[in-house]
Amino acid sequence: MTDAKAYREQLQELRRKAPKGQQGLVLVYTGDGKGKTSAALGTALRAVGAGWRVAFLQFMKGAWKSAEENVIPLFGDQWLLRKLGRGFTWEHESLEEDRQAAQEAWAEAVQILQSGQYELVVLDEINYVLHYGFLDVEEVLDALRARPAHVHVVCTGRNAPEALVSFADLVTEMRKVKHPFDQGILAQQGIDY
Ligand code: ATP
Ligand code: MG
Repeated sequence: MTDAKAYREQLQELRRKAPKGQQGLVLVYTGDGKGKTSAALGTALRAVGAGWRVAFLQFMKGAWKSAEENVIPLFGDQWLLRKLGRGFTWEHESLEEDRQAAQEAWAEAVQILQSGQYELVVLDEINYVLHYGFLDVEEVLDALRARPAHVHVVCTGRNAPEALVSFADLVTEMRKVKHPFDQGILAQQGIDY
């Protein structure tokens, strides 16, 4: 049997067995290469195109306004973009303040996740917050287990914790092969933010 034929047969078998309707997935984009938030934005755009509502929730407060902030409002209620809580900066303040900020941010995210109003919920840079222990990974996994079954979730950020990786349905690791920063080229609007 050719590979193509075997693949088609496998696909037909999977289609027969697949549960009807949408099955919410957990997707993780991690690794030290560029493209994690970009991939989440691409997934969000596709979801909006499919007629879904998207909540794109940001755990980090960037130094610059990211250009996507100029276009997401064009999608109206279909695409919510929100900086959670007070937002983290990449510079740490006190550990206690960071923990508290994470809790506030997470409380907002949980509400949106459990409401079931958004078919896709992006938790941008949550991996970073988990990696530094500002948020408990078990608490996050409990909320993912308890979410409405049709809700898909994307988690981005470097250093995704092992427990999240093993829980997720899809994990893609962006691996740096080259980055312009290494030749001294700084971040540029339209590419990096
Ligand atoms: P992007 O938002 O461009 O998809 P990302 O989400 O994968 O990037 P982050 O870890 O969130 O990456 O960092 C965001 C910023 O850091 C971007 O400006 C990006 O170009 C830059 N960056 C990402 N990876 C690297 C790297 N390996 N070396 C230097 N800068 C990087
Ligand atoms: Mg990012």
